[in-house]
Amino acid sequence: MTIEKVRVLIIGSGPAGYTAAIYLSRANLAPVLYQGIEPGGQLTTTTDIENFPGYPSGVSGTQMMEDLRMQAERLGTDIRLGIVSKVDFASRPFRIVVDDVHEISADSVIVATGASAKYLGLESEYRFRGMGVSACATCDGFFYRKKDVAVVGGGDTACEEASYLATLCRKVYMIVRKDHLRASQAMQDRVRKTPNIEILFEYNTTEVLGNDDGVTGVLITKTDGTTRRLPIDGFFLAIGHRPNTELVKDYITLDSEGYIATVPGTSKTNVEGVFAAGDVKDPHYRQAITAAGSGCIAAIDCERYLLGIG
Ligand code: NDP
Repeated sequence: MTIEKVRVLIIGSGPAGYTAAIYLSRANLAPVLYQGIEPGGQLTTTTDIENFPGYPSGVSGTQMMEDLRMQAERLGTDIRLGIVSKVDFASRPFRIVVDDVHEISADSVIVATGASAKYLGLESEYRFRGMGVSACATCDGFFYRKKDVAVVGGGDTACEEASYLATLCRKVYMIVRKDHLRASQAMQDRVRKTPNIEILFEYNTTEVLGNDDGVTGVLITKTDGTTRRLPIDGFFLAIGHRPNTELVKDYITLDSEGYIATVPGTSKTNVEGVFAAGDVKDPHYRQAITAAGSGCIAAIDCERYLLGIG
């Protein structure tokens, strides 16, 4: 098997990966970027983005990622469909295997693999995944037009998903485990003003109910022990995300929450020549603009490393 040699390999195609690609292309480092399981990353599952500077009328997540992809490609990034299946960071150059067959030798690597939605961990939730259980309202909301659905979570994502679903569905329940929402005031105001959203505070989901056709309801239990059955057709999770570190965890140091640990103020990991950017290293901000900014930082750190000055 021939081994392809590259100077910089970027793993991931969210705003962090594409921004790193834009900078490294302009530095003539001919980056190769693998898009991964979800080309464009999590933003392709959101609706309009109104808080990314430079889009006065907002922009859809899909459009913004397509714009970033085209910008990186025009500047010279080699963008490829494919999933990095294995890495070996034990010695330099690093070894990377794509789709279990294609082997690459890379002088440096930028890990921008993002984060994935969390699930509650109920057996019944797993059983009905794709049959009424979803972690992406914008992907699947369409299937629940004029029906009743529930969203679990009390953060900004839950409020955003509930607001979106309320435009399609007859009724949206928000199942919140505390007696208050964690979301920003603006998002809280939005859901409270939406007549077909009902917030159920201090409830936990104990079981997803359904039949061969999919979800028919959920059992929820209040903190005082009382149980209620909600008849719904769609059950949406919005309880946060988990960083996608499975690929690199044998080599890269993670923090206590499982995110990639970097030298403060930089994108440098514990392995010299491997850099991290975006949600995979960011448990706090997780915004498109902060991911893009950290992609820029990783590119500059990487360029300096390759020039022997970083
Ligand atoms: P958060 O971690 O902010 O919120 C997660 C929510 O899920 C909390 O209400 C939490 O409850 C609840 N939760 C967690 N685990 C469980 C569980 N096992 N059972 C029931 N409920 C559970 O995640 P988000 O995805 O909402 O937001 C992540 C970050 O992204 C935040 O910084 C947010 O501000 C940002 N964001 C910004 C947006 C914007 O600016 N437009 C849009 C979306 C996200 P509890 O409060 O009890 O812990």
